[in-house]
Amino acid sequence: MDHIQPRSLEGSDELSNLALACHRCNERRSNAITASDPETSAIVQIFNPRKQSWSEHFCWTQNGINLIGTTPTGRATCARLDCNDDRYPDENSIRSVRRLWINAGWHPPITDPIWPNS
Ligand SMILES: [Zn+2]
Repeated sequence: MDHIQPRSLEGSDELSNLALACHRCNERRSNAITASDPETSAIVQIFNPRKQSWSEHFCWTQNGINLIGTTPTGRATCARLDCNDDRYPDENSIRSVRRLWINAGWHPPITDPIWPNS
């Protein structure tokens, strides 16, 4: 199995099938295991934090405010989880939180890649 299978799709609640997620991401993911890549409209698997490397699929803009999907999986995951408040731009909640984290020196994580011309 290449992805974390939700219980609603007959996945188990074994530790190997679970991933820690914040309420926001968990709610937006729902039981999705695939999503549309906004660049190609192809349906692809969303990011699996258990099996895939974050830095191979995502990077931050230079100001650390926006997450960029760098692969079909990264782009589809960003869209599905609304990682940059694109779906509800008036809410601006995750971007506001990232600004606070940046001011506190907590974000972006130093090990995360930064998109060079962003
Ligand atoms: Zn989250």
